[in-house]
Amino acid sequence: MKIKCDFCKTEYHIDNIPNTPVQCALCGHTWTVVVGQKRNALLMFFASLCALLSAIVFTVAVITQHQIKQKNQGPLIATVTGVTTTTDENGVPHIVVNGTVTNVSDQIYGVPDLVIVSSDQNDNVLAQQKFMPSATLLDVGASVNFSHMLSQQPSGVKKISAKLVNFDVPKDDKK
Ligand SMILES: [Zn+2]
Repeated sequence: MKIKCDFCKTEYHIDNIPNTPVQCALCGHTWTVVVGQKRNALLMFFASLCALLSAIVFTVAVITQHQIKQKNQGPLIATVTGVTTTTDENGVPHIVVNGTVTNVSDQIYGVPDLVIVSSDQNDNVLAQQKFMPSATLLDVGASVNFSHMLSQQPSGVKKISAKLVNFDVPKDDKK
């Protein structure tokens, strides 16, 4: 491979990449040879993270459309509107799920707990995390936004959705 003196730009041909700093025979400048592939590990990490995120965002869009079609099913509807990442003080990335709960009925409802469901491409549930939205009561036609940071996710998560718990769907729903 070819290396160049940082100072006087003299070129040298070497067979192996030295682990120690090299010294220029012409000007005496000493520098460390940087190998091109060194950044790859970090780049690969971000590339795989981006791939994971785009897969999730795509799925969220599908789930959201699906839920719009089922709008008449219950008085309250939880919808995931977006999935983002944030990095904590230790540099560890976390997935943040954003969404809304909408009251589509004609009476006031208390906001129930929400469960964020992480599943793989075959709809197998890999993880469930329950949390309480900040709002307590939801007026007729009103929506409340939620944002929840997920703890460490298992590998293979392809879909993230939200569902309501502690919530009675009206029993007169004849099948
Ligand atoms: Zn030199």
